[in-house]
Amino acid sequence: MKIYKDVFVSEKKIVDIYCNMCGKKIERVNEDTFHDYFHAIKEWGYFSDMDNEKHSFDLCQDCYKKFIGQFEISATENNNEK
Ligand SMILES: [Zn+2]
Repeated sequence: MKIYKDVFVSEKKIVDIYCNMCGKKIERVNEDTFHDYFHAIKEWGYFSDMDNEKHSFDLCQDCYKKFIGQFEISATENNNEK
């Protein structure tokens, strides 16, 4: 989850990023750069029971590892997907 502040009318700056799973703040490397994190956006469509819902979330690296650790098929197995 990103917290923004308006810099100009058409520009927003990310103030903080929080991991949706554990709630911790994603640490900064410097003023404009954060440690790497996982970001996902999904807009569900007609053939789902969440039609028209838009979900987005951010995960810190530790929570991402926990998340993909639950997969039956490894996330690193089929790396040629686009
Ligand atoms: Zn986390």
